[in-house]
Amino acid sequence: MPTFKPYNKDQMFLLPPSLEEMISSNHPVRIVDTVIEKIDISPLLRKYKKHGTSSYHPKMLLKVLTYSYLKNVYSSRKIEELLKENIHMMWISGMNHPDHHTINRFRSERLKNVLEKIFSQIVNLLIEAGQLSIKELYIDGTKLEAQANKYTFVWSKTVKKNKSRIKEQLKELWKYSQEVARSESLDQEDGDDDFDEIDSEKIEETIKKIDKALKDKPVSKRVRQKLNYAKKNWSKNYQKYEEYEKKLGSRNSFSKTDEGATFMRMKEDHMLNGQLKAGYNLQISSNKQYILNYSIHQNPSDTTTLREHINLYKESYDQMPEVVIADAGYGSEENYEYLEDQGIEAYVKYNYFDKEQKKTKIDKKPFATDKLYYNQEKDCYYCPIGQKMEKIGERVKITENNYSRTISLYQAINCRGCPIRGVCHNQKGNRIISVSHRGNYLKKKAKEKLESEKGLYYRKKRPVEAESVFGNIKQNKKFRRFYLRGLEKVKIEFGLIAISHNLAKLVYQYQ
Ligand code: SF4
Repeated sequence: MPTFKPYNKDQMFLLPPSLEEMISSNHPVRIVDTVIEKIDISPLLRKYKKHGTSSYHPKMLLKVLTYSYLKNVYSSRKIEELLKENIHMMWISGMNHPDHHTINRFRSERLKNVLEKIFSQIVNLLIEAGQLSIKELYIDGTKLEAQANKYTFVWSKTVKKNKSRIKEQLKELWKYSQEVARSESLDQEDGDDDFDEIDSEKIEETIKKIDKALKDKPVSKRVRQKLNYAKKNWSKNYQKYEEYEKKLGSRNSFSKTDEGATFMRMKEDHMLNGQLKAGYNLQISSNKQYILNYSIHQNPSDTTTLREHINLYKESYDQMPEVVIADAGYGSEENYEYLEDQGIEAYVKYNYFDKEQKKTKIDKKPFATDKLYYNQEKDCYYCPIGQKMEKIGERVKITENNYSRTISLYQAINCRGCPIRGVCHNQKGNRIISVSHRGNYLKKKAKEKLESEKGLYYRKKRPVEAESVFGNIKQNKKFRRFYLRGLEKVKIEFGLIAISHNLAKLVYQYQ
């Protein structure tokens, strides 16, 4: 007969077991509890009404959410379930059992505009504990898929095309009705022929006039059908397109199922078909693989996000970083200028920096603009055969962030009959080059910095900083798609991910 350990599930206890005793002293749940206890949650408390029915304590809900995200549980229903089944969740919640609606409402509404402050307080605690420095920022970005349908999108180009199609067709129909009235020697309807500036009301009004003019007239079936369609749809559709344009802002697209999301190219392209997906552009700053700052953007290009990202950092820590390290996606004239203005030491690559470093023997573009000789005194260039290229003018380009970039134009005097014309350029007339002198100066400075000893050190460190943070979030935490919809909610969701990432790293230090 084998020997078994005693088993009696109905055994009575003299003293009931306490949850406290069941949780080991260095369990991650205790670290979450200790850290959140140290946080000043007064901005969160201000979100609650002074009177009214009692609510679950925000500190408890914040701990529950933080611990759930630490354990890769992101669904509010799953969190509700764990609160009844998992002893660590029971311990941290003090045996409270908020349902998934309460958890969701707390996450989406109460944490709005508050979580950023909680996050920066946690980072400050980590700094005090000597875990990281906020002086050096490694900045990088990635695209994260939105909780949106892949096939319900609105494209800015299509909206513009549809609006102008309505305008043109309205114009045609109006002209036609005027001609009919004229041929029947009837009074023509008063109206404005200018349909460039129209709105849904003007469309409706015009269609009514056209309808009146063509009533009981022998018009073709095609015109009658078009008019019927116009009566039903044009005004309504035009209004819809105008609303779309408001939602689009400067974006080229948005998803109908998550209007905050823009269609972008993602790194994770499992179908290998380059299909654009609705998502958000996530930017982070890291130091020692802790996240110090995060921002979510609706624009897919990293270049335009830097200023907003660093300004958010300043808001959180009331200071500017001393050093910024970033890859070539951020190396624009505008960004170099901004970093210099702010007194930030920048180690930011520009396009072709890596190619330049490879020093390949064959120069594939020997006649490119940057290879031409510039005479600063005379403000002119010399082309590959030594012909002078005079300055012919300047152009100012205003970027999305209102930065004005001055481009100088230089033209060769005569390219006709030049023996190397075929390889020099493919413009129709004499070669014109466009140059930003300020941009070239800033690029030269960036190159010197990147090639310095310090630059080499930062360049070597960069790939193991922010990129490994993304690796942890996407691979270990399995967070590859947002669960919530809309820009504000997505910000909260990533804030929780960032807190849980930082605490998981802290937990790892103590185990
Ligand atoms: S094609 Fe024109 S710009 Fe080029 S080398 Fe000849 S003359 Fe100079």
